[in-house]
Amino acid sequence: MVSRVIPVEVFDLVIFGATGDLARRKILPGLYRRYLAGQIPPDSRIIGAARSAMTEAEFRQMVREAIDEFVSLDKRDARIISEFIDHLSYVAVDAKGEEGWAALKALVRPDRVQAFYFSVAPALFGDLAERLHAWGIAHPQSRIVVEKPFGRDLQTARALNATLAEHFCEQQIYRIDHYLGKETVQNLMAVRFANILFEPLWNAQYIDHVQITVAETVGVEGRGAYYDKSGAMRDMVQNHLMQLICLIAMEPPYHFDPNAVRDEKLKVIRALQPVAPEDIVRGQYLGLKGAPGYIEDSENPESKTESYIALKVQVANWRWQGTPFYLRTGKKLRARESEIAITFKEPPHSIFDDAPGWRENVLVIRLQPNEGMNLKVMIKEPGPGGMRLVQVPLDMSFADALGEEGADIPDAYERLIMDVIRGNQTLFMRGDEVEAAWAWTDPIIQGWEARGDRPRGYDPGTSGPEDALMLMHRDGRRWREIRE
Ligand code: NAP
Repeated sequence: MVSRVIPVEVFDLVIFGATGDLARRKILPGLYRRYLAGQIPPDSRIIGAARSAMTEAEFRQMVREAIDEFVSLDKRDARIISEFIDHLSYVAVDAKGEEGWAALKALVRPDRVQAFYFSVAPALFGDLAERLHAWGIAHPQSRIVVEKPFGRDLQTARALNATLAEHFCEQQIYRIDHYLGKETVQNLMAVRFANILFEPLWNAQYIDHVQITVAETVGVEGRGAYYDKSGAMRDMVQNHLMQLICLIAMEPPYHFDPNAVRDEKLKVIRALQPVAPEDIVRGQYLGLKGAPGYIEDSENPESKTESYIALKVQVANWRWQGTPFYLRTGKKLRARESEIAITFKEPPHSIFDDAPGWRENVLVIRLQPNEGMNLKVMIKEPGPGGMRLVQVPLDMSFADALGEEGADIPDAYERLIMDVIRGNQTLFMRGDEVEAAWAWTDPIIQGWEARGDRPRGYDPGTSGPEDALMLMHRDGRRWREIRE
């Protein structure tokens, strides 16, 4: 099956922070891949902007090196790379001063789709928005893309929304959560809402519980000082895991339309219950065999910031009353793995004598590695040994089902940038969604701060603190293995 690549309109994209880590690792290599796929019309312009003084040739060389480093060998075509590089310009611009803005204005065409990617520290978002207007560069159809973190609590998120709203209306603001750009995450909506099979069972009557795991093997590495002000709750749960809860728990929107989808997600966030202290486990990785622990990495001996968190969350509405959502995310765990597991209830009665203790159906949605889904079902064990049951996975990994084209899944950033150009906000967070997410998160954080709770230590390479096991054991359930 050949996936269709539909070219977008001719556009001018300005990447503020073009010399930074995100631009080098994700944005620029992603744009190259879309160019290679034929999605970017040749007349488009990609303009890098940052403070560093750099000639166009130096910037192009930097991008060439980024492509060599971050694009797989089979996608590196020397002729296409040169063509792509020819589309790039660079302007030295200071977000906090007036240097460079006149040159930028001269490059951005007013009659094209315009997008401005704010790949800089959030403290600069307001300055950029203000100067884009003051210099008459942005127009009412221009789009701005803003990166995470969107605030560090409700108050700062509100302030940021208010600052952006001074110069751009909500339809122009694209708040990125790259989890929403993942193929499987969108497939979750397709599976739920384009099939009759799952939706009748998609509620507390048939679903026992939901587990969401986002496990990383890396620690905080060089970002320790920055991370220490954030922690797993702010860095992962408030945004990425929250978005996953929304897509699982939301009601069917009346249409696959940006506001219809986001209205339903907002209702889920507002239905989230406060989380009791006994339903929260926080952890910090320990040092092991000479490798530094979180305390050393963060260079803060008194740090109470969590590098791991597990939570039991309840969505208080008719559909989900009584079905807990267990979330966990952490650093330096056994494997890099992100998945959602939906565990269905057991059948009410067994007609088989030799049933190996009923095993429930589980729908596993893998975000990484190997994006795909599988559904665990009971079947008869093959062979003449009588009616013995065995649980097997029905695998729906994209590479198998869709052939080579299925395996060639665009990176989340690529897809999201193309959505910005198309003007489709469905996979971006609306301002009220972000604020509602913080309104739920803030009291949880304030609670452990007021209690002076310290995170539990856990050994690197494990599945996190022991207490997190108890979070599920005491409910008669268990976490799925984090596999190497
Ligand atoms: P970074 O490596 O520190 O890069 C920051 C960029 O901002 C550099 O290009 C820098 O240019 C530019 N810059 C700094 N001050 C400026 C000013 N006054 N005017 C114009 N440009 C200025 O940061 P990053 O890791 O790429 O992150 C960028 C944004 O993405 C942040 O909001 C971050 O939270 C978010 N994000 C990053 C990642 C990631 O994996 N890196 C993931 C998720 C979200 P000069 O070097 O020329 O000063």
